[in-house]
Amino acid sequence: MSQVYDRVALIGLGLIASSMFWAIKRAGLAGEVTGYARSEATRDTARRIGLCDHVCDTVQEAVEGADLVVLCVPVGAMGTVAQEIAPILKPGATVTDVGSVKRHVIEAVSPHIPEGVHFIPAHPLAGTEHSGPESGFAELFDNRWSLLVPVEGSDPDAIARLRALWEGMGANVDEMDADHHDLVLAVTSHAPHLIAYTMVGVADDLRRVTDTEVIKYSAAGFRDFTRIAASDPTMWRDVFLTNKDATLEILGRFTEELFALQRAIRTGDGEHLFDYFTRTRAIRRGIIDAGQDTDAPDFGRGKANP
Ligand code: NAP
Repeated sequence: MSQVYDRVALIGLGLIASSMFWAIKRAGLAGEVTGYARSEATRDTARRIGLCDHVCDTVQEAVEGADLVVLCVPVGAMGTVAQEIAPILKPGATVTDVGSVKRHVIEAVSPHIPEGVHFIPAHPLAGTEHSGPESGFAELFDNRWSLLVPVEGSDPDAIARLRALWEGMGANVDEMDADHHDLVLAVTSHAPHLIAYTMVGVADDLRRVTDTEVIKYSAAGFRDFTRIAASDPTMWRDVFLTNKDATLEILGRFTEELFALQRAIRTGDGEHLFDYFTRTRAIRRGIIDAGQDTDAPDFGRGKANP
């Protein structure tokens, strides 16, 4: 794969930025990658593990001369960071982000983007429950979707270059409108995370009654919820606060379905339960057929977790 940008700046050095760095290096997509994180501890860790060609002590230093600036901070911090870097952005440069919510990021960042600089929001649909500079790996985006959410009037060449970067990092790329993105992600990611947080919270309350049984006999269903509910609290607080309407819409529908299932259980309506579970099983099949998860039993955990 050939070089797409001379100089890329990664702002925020957590899971997504570190994975981007390793994926960019794997394919030789940039001449140089600079990085910046607000805390000295994160910058020290990044230097120790060789993350970025140059870890800078100021955001200005990292952004200076960059052809592509990637905002890899929580959604709620995007606007402030954009404001900080605005005066340093090189004419003709592209600013992008990796935030999990798009309408809010567009509204928070766009006003700070100077004339002559392109802003192309993006969101890789890939992640883990881990965070920080040491959690990244080059394969994170392989065969995952990355969505580009260009704002009106975006430069087609700048979009094509960003697409080439994501494809070079192993992702499949699609373009989507911001509001549609936020609704789709509310269904596929945001509401499921809230439900997992709630289920683990309920079990935590119950634990006070059953002592350690919830942990000791933790079965696959609950373990899967705990993995999702271990996700970064700052990131997810910001997701819910900034994708409020779509998340509440999906949670409303979820509550209605839950009541219907509750009634089926109470009234002994086995047919309703069976039909419902048959439909949901087919969705799992579709995800596996699309290559978005493993067919291995128990998500491939194998014998490590009997
Ligand atoms: P992460 O591992 O927690 O790293 C976040 C980075 O942002 C850290 O370097 C942190 O700096 C910095 N940061 C935190 N709060 C900040 C603030 N108020 N101002 C400036 N910098 C701040 O996060 P991540 O998982 O890489 O997520 C980054 C972005 O990607 C988020 O917008 C998230 O929505 C999106 N995303 C995440 C996933 C996922 O599964 N994790 C998937 C797709 C997209 P310090 O280390 O110095 O505190």
